[in-house]
Amino acid sequence: MTTRIEKRAAAVDGPPNLVDYEQARASFSWEASRHELDGLPDGGLNIAYEAVDRHVRSGHGSQTAVIWRGKAGARKEITYADLERLTNQLANVLASLGVEAGERVYSLAGRIPELYVCALGALKHRAIFCPLFSAFGPEPIAERLQLGEAKVLFTTERLYRRRVAQIRDRVPTLEHVIILPDPKPKAPKGTIDWNDAMGNASAEYRIAPTDPEMPALLHFTSGTTGTPKGALHVHEAVLTHYVTGKLALDLRPGDIYWCTADPGWVTGTSYGITAPLVNRVTMVVDEAEFDPQRWYGILEEERVQVWYTAPTAIRMLMRSGPELPRSRDLSNLRFMASVGEPLNPQAVVWGYEVFGKPFHDNWWQTETGGIMISNYASMDVKPGSMGKPMPGITAAIVREGDDGRLHAVDDPKKDGELALRPDWPSLFRGYWNNQDRYDACFRDGWYLTGDLARRDEEGYYWFVGRADDVIKSAGHLIGPFEVESVIMRHPAVAEVGVIGKPDPVAGTIIKAFVSLQPGRQWSAELQKELLGFGRKNLGTAAPREIDFTESLPKTRSGKIMRRLLKARELGLPEGDTSTLEGGSS
Ligand code: AMP
Repeated sequence: MTTRIEKRAAAVDGPPNLVDYEQARASFSWEASRHELDGLPDGGLNIAYEAVDRHVRSGHGSQTAVIWRGKAGARKEITYADLERLTNQLANVLASLGVEAGERVYSLAGRIPELYVCALGALKHRAIFCPLFSAFGPEPIAERLQLGEAKVLFTTERLYRRRVAQIRDRVPTLEHVIILPDPKPKAPKGTIDWNDAMGNASAEYRIAPTDPEMPALLHFTSGTTGTPKGALHVHEAVLTHYVTGKLALDLRPGDIYWCTADPGWVTGTSYGITAPLVNRVTMVVDEAEFDPQRWYGILEEERVQVWYTAPTAIRMLMRSGPELPRSRDLSNLRFMASVGEPLNPQAVVWGYEVFGKPFHDNWWQTETGGIMISNYASMDVKPGSMGKPMPGITAAIVREGDDGRLHAVDDPKKDGELALRPDWPSLFRGYWNNQDRYDACFRDGWYLTGDLARRDEEGYYWFVGRADDVIKSAGHLIGPFEVESVIMRHPAVAEVGVIGKPDPVAGTIIKAFVSLQPGRQWSAELQKELLGFGRKNLGTAAPREIDFTESLPKTRSGKIMRRLLKARELGLPEGDTSTLEGGSS
């Protein structure tokens, strides 16, 4: 297996934005980068203005901002000028509904053009935008709407009918539901039709002064226990989006760029909306689900130059073989990157063999708001490594010392928790209504990521695992507690424990173990019923496998020991069982 892919600088594609890593790090400052953004004419910094309006002002209104490829074959181009007008209208719609700065505007929709208008229009109006993943079932949707105290929801008629109508009265704060024109424009009772709302709205809107510290985005993420956490980001995050888009993804104005992530997850917002637009690229949006033929077709037909995708998709492409990409002209591809879960070294090398360039892994998380560790166009790639910290980012591997404080570990053989100095613009500013959980992320001057990692003698970081029980399935972070709480509601279930089970394609799948109420018998029918129950209520967060167990291993304080369930499932050593109920002490 190749252990290093060397970069021969400045080949045919011209020099990358980051030419020399060490030099870029040494000379970098956030203040200097801030001058590459415009700022609002009336003061402050607004993500939507930097992403859209400023490009129109500097004479690029006719450049295509979005190339939209519809599921059924439609293709649409939206220019920066179109986007400015549409987002102005959207901001006016919110104003007419009485939405005030800081109130929460949600979306629940597939990757349709209106979703992007909602995001940017809400940011212009200085509301807090919160995108939900459209494959979630009613339970995760209800929980997130409640937790974030949603005032407005943009969704489609189909999703409203199937997922929202039945839970709407559980969200008393939700005043307005606007039905997007997909596929049927008919708005059900109690909702507002998009065309009516937008048709009456003016295309002029002046963004009010926006303090860079004003909240802008709310992204729900999961922990091991408790409800999902709403990570709150501010308008200043746009500076990280700009810098990382430029230096980590090598975005250049006018590039054709495709981020395959859905805006329901943080990558689809930071790198599927703001980073590309603020760097004035033309971004491709594909409405359809993964399909190898379709994906290679898009790369070729749209002449994609920079492509940002995820390990699960890359593994599925690998499975579909090298003939498909070899039958296409993919010569426009300049840079390929991946994020979200460990990228196998084989996948990096496969990319190199098939496309003539490696996938560049990078690392970040909802809380960091943007890429923190990355492989760069000009830097040698060590397959399997996440790369090195971004200019402007101080990272370390930390462990608790004898003095009870955290210390950076210099030994490349030792792993520890990946920690970052909390001083970059897109660091989250809080968990919505949950100060304690936020405070618990910081210690001894570090932001603790919850990931275990290692740093080698050259300064490359290597992912080791999660320090907690959260599950990354097909790149999506799922909290076991949320899944357990829903499965528990089934009348046959007494107890449930959820783990991540390794899977060659999805990385990890969700597996639940249940014990039953007295008098209930385990059967293939009940198993099927429980799987269906999970799918109906949880959607994409549902367990793919459910098995019966007589009883679940618990700590003496009654907490289910997921770690043990996992070890037993995988036939691994059970490790320390001293806290196990009935175990040795
Ligand atoms: P999320 O907040 O949903 O974006 O998930 C963030 C988590 O995904 C991180 O804390 C890691 O556990 C995992 N992750 C993200 N990028 C990578 C990567 N390049 N390699 C390994 N794990 C990753």
